Amino acid sequence: MSLPFTLLIDPVPADSERTTFEDTFHEMESAAPALRVGELSTQRGDGIFETLSVVNGHPQEVEPHIARLCNSAQICDLPVPNSAQWRAAISYAVARLPHEGELALKFVLSRGVESGPAPTAWLHATRAADFSAARRNGVRVITLDRGYPRGVAERAPWLLMGAKTLSYAVNMAALREAHRRGADDTIFLTTDDYVMEGPTSSVILRTGGVYVTPAPSGAILHGTTQQSMFDYLRDQGEKVEYRDVTIDELRQADAAWLVSSVRLAVAITALDGEPMRTDQPLTAALNAYLLARTA
Ligand code: PLP
Repeated sequence: MSLPFTLLIDPVPADSERTTFEDTFHEMESAAPALRVGELSTQRGDGIFETLSVVNGHPQEVEPHIARLCNSAQICDLPVPNSAQWRAAISYAVARLPHEGELALKFVLSRGVESGPAPTAWLHATRAADFSAARRNGVRVITLDRGYPRGVAERAPWLLMGAKTLSYAVNMAALREAHRRGADDTIFLTTDDYVMEGPTSSVILRTGGVYVTPAPSGAILHGTTQQSMFDYLRDQGEKVEYRDVTIDELRQADAAWLVSSVRLAVAITALDGEPMRTDQPLTAALNAYLLARTA
């Protein structure tokens, strides 16, 4: 099967007794129209998604991605996803996709068509963007104010901060702002100067010999790649920690990374124009580990 690959899915309720789902999957021609104009995903960005990496035929971190889809659904009052159906859809797609190289597999659950009977779901696979230079050379990052204080998720849950929604216009605008300022990527800060996350990545830093990431306490996503990286570091006997991180602490870190499913780990080489220390041997080891995952 050539890429891109699109599978429309008739979502099955989570409490269904079904164990087979193939009749709910509809393969689409890549150029064929697939969504209705009344789709709330396209009209309002009202839906949720996940993107996982497929490396040499192995979909990575399937269970953490499905778990986060379920968490996003709960935050957004969407029907509970049927995890078995999503698992089956991912396997169905992977069996039909090229078994060499890196692919990005996105899966989406939208609220569906206005006053329609059911949510809309689909899966879409493409070749992954080439991150090899960023993995080798790192990225220059700027910080940008996200406009909310620490604790915003508890105070204003309707902002859906901890859900991976389709409303990524702000995230994309932040990346364009980074490019305008001559950088490659962005880290969002709270109005009171705590580190949040990148527009499409988690932030990890090493300080005082401990690997730290901002606690996913509702205002940011709990990154699946960050969790894999912490597993690797723990296995190496390193200390890892979730806690609040101030921008000053990030500026003084021994090393820092942006991590996400398809890019994997890239070192931050400069922050707001100031050079950052890096650990390229560790970055290379991390990426070798992340690429070799087979589950
Ligand atoms: N935070 C945001 C806002 C993201 O969009 C992403 C991934 O796209 C991440 C964090 C990293 O998540 P993961 O490692 O599961 O890809």
